[in-house]
Formats: sequence, structure tokens, C-alpha cells
Amino acid sequence: MSVLVFIEHTEGHVKKASHETMTYAAQLAQQLGTAAEGLVIGQPQEDLPALGKYGVKKIHHVVNDTLSQFDAQVYASVIAQAAEKAGADVVIFSNNAAGKSLAPRVAVRLRAGLVSGAVALPQTEGGKFVVKKAVFSGKAFAEVSITTPKKVISLNVNAFTVQETGDMAEVTQLQVDVPASKVKVTNTTKTSGAVALTEAETVVSAGRGLKGPENWKMVEDLAELLGAGLACSRPVADAHWRPHNEHVGQTGVAIAPNLYIAIGISGAIQHLAGVNRSKTIVVINKDAEAPFFKAADYGIVGDAFEVVPKM
Ligand code: FAD
Repeated sequence: MSVLVFIEHTEGHVKKASHETMTYAAQLAQQLGTAAEGLVIGQPQEDLPALGKYGVKKIHHVVNDTLSQFDAQVYASVIAQAAEKAGADVVIFSNNAAGKSLAPRVAVRLRAGLVSGAVALPQTEGGKFVVKKAVFSGKAFAEVSITTPKKVISLNVNAFTVQETGDMAEVTQLQVDVPASKVKVTNTTKTSGAVALTEAETVVSAGRGLKGPENWKMVEDLAELLGAGLACSRPVADAHWRPHNEHVGQTGVAIAPNLYIAIGISGAIQHLAGVNRSKTIVVINKDAEAPFFKAADYGIVGDAFEVVPKM
């Protein structure tokens, strides 16, 4: 039973989420007594053999001009073919935007059982394959048994610690049939700030407590100082104080940074649903009774207009 992991890259660099999935795949492969292999589509600037340090023994590399633009249907076909050619029984994705669109499509093509949002390695004793996943916006866990011969798992971002245990990986070029795309991307506009929210290690976020869009300069300054992504609560985006791509929560982007700093946000359940996988949460609110403090690791009771400039 071999394990194939889809390795994503953006702007020339392999995503941190893929470092996590490679580590996960390597540990799963070890558990199953097999090897983890990676699949890279396109040409990142990084040295592919060096990705072996995350535990993948071999990298299947697919280069084709028509794959330079991400298209979930085309990529799913390519990944499914790669899985067949590599003889993979388990295919691993990150449960991020790309993984959410790819994992189900690949599962259908491979007739595989799928668990999305895994948070731990599967239990495989006695021939079982039971995967723990987060449900109800992370408020509970379910253990799901995959019974099909082929299996697809998407791993929650930040659920697994990256480990550099391997050596150099062998790289082989893989030939696959690339189907024609059914869509044509005519224009792409980069909407987020300097740091993509889903990849950000630190996110600085602000809510209605900021009173108006004119007060975001201090939030932007703090984010820039920390090299952080910028986020906001939904009413802030609804009021057009900030763009909707910054809105985090149940109906916005779900994030899992190492550090989430929430400024003037009450901590409504719908907001928490998108940020409660953050490793450390710092809340700044002038109301000591704000619900967000219950979910916080560190809390500062104070006026944002005094606290943030001091930070
Ligand atoms: P408020 O609730 O108005 O809170 C502002 C906070 O700022 C208060 O706690 C206040 O004490 C504090 N404050 C005020 N002045 C200061 C100051 N000077 N310094 C420090 N603190 C100050 N919301 C989301 O964010 N994301 C979602 O995805 C989302 N999805 C939703 C889906 C549904 C179906 C529904 C019904 C709601 C959803 N909401 C979502 C809205 C959510 O319920 C809350 O209304 C929203 O999160 C509140 O935003 P807020 O905390 O910025 O504003």
C-alpha cells in the first residue's frame, strides 16, 4: 500500500501546507510499511530532490504548459492518472482551497473513500483504516472508517507538525494525458495583501470595535511589522470597510495560523468557527466580558486605540 501526496506550490515556493502533508504521508507510509511519494505539477523554483527532507522518497514531476493555470478538473485527472501509475493506494491532500476542490474529484476517479479535514494519522491496526476528522466547525471529532481499497485523505492545515527527517528524493518525469480545460481564465486579480491568509503564520484581525475604515492604518502597520496576514470580522466586510476576501469565519475564510490577534472583535460563534484552529489566540477588547476572551490564550482588556499603537 503506497502513499502519494500532492505537493502544491505558489509563486515558485512549495506551500507550508504541503510540508505538513509530506510529513503526514511519510509517517503514514512508515506505519503501513511502505514509502511516501510526492507529485509536483509545474515548475517551482525550489530544488525538488531537497523535498525529500520531509520524508518523501520519490517525486513524480509533471510539466506541461497547459497546467500552468490551476483548473480543478484538469488537475484531478492528472493526479488520478499519477496515482494509478505510481500504484498509490492512499492519496493525501491539504484541506485548503485547492485540496477541497481536488480531493473529492480524485476520490471519484479512483473510486476511493474520502475523509476530508483529517486531524491525525489513521489507525491502521488489524487491517482497519480509521481517520479522525474535525466536524461541526472544529467543535467535535468523528472517527471515519474507510473501507474501499483506495483511500483519499485531506489533512487540515496546521493539524500536523512539520518534521524534517528524510534525505534527498529521487525525481522522475511522469507522462500523463492532459485533458483540455473546459474553462478559460481571462483575468486574475490578486485581492489579498502581502501575505495570503490561509498560508499566514500570523494573522492580525479587526472588527466593528474599530469604528470605521479610517482606523485600519494601525492594524495594517501592526500586520506589516509582524509579517502577518490581515483579516476582519464579517460585519466589517459587509459594511465595505474591508474587502470580503479578508473576512474570516463560518461564512468566510477558515484559517489556522500559529498566532491570531483579534482586535475589537466580540467572538461570536460564527467568527470562532473560522479561527478556532489557530495555535495561539490573543484578544484585545475593551469589554472584559467579551465572549472571545473564553477562547483566548492571552487577553488584553483595553481600548484598541491605546493598545495597538503601543504594540
Ligand atoms: P461586534 O459584535 O459589534 O463586536 C465589536 C467588539 O468590539 C465588541 O466586543 C466590543 O466590546 C469591542 N470594542 C468596541 N470598541 C472597542 C475599542 N475601542 N477597543 C477594543 N474593543 C472594542 N461573523 C464573522 O466574523 N465571520 C463569519 O463568517 C460570520 N458568519 C455568520 C454567519 C451567519 C449565518 C450569521 C447569522 C452571522 C455570521 N457572522 C459572522 C456574524 C457574527 O454573528 C457577529 O455578528 C460578528 O462576528 C460580530 O462582528 P464583530 O465582533 O466585529 O462586531
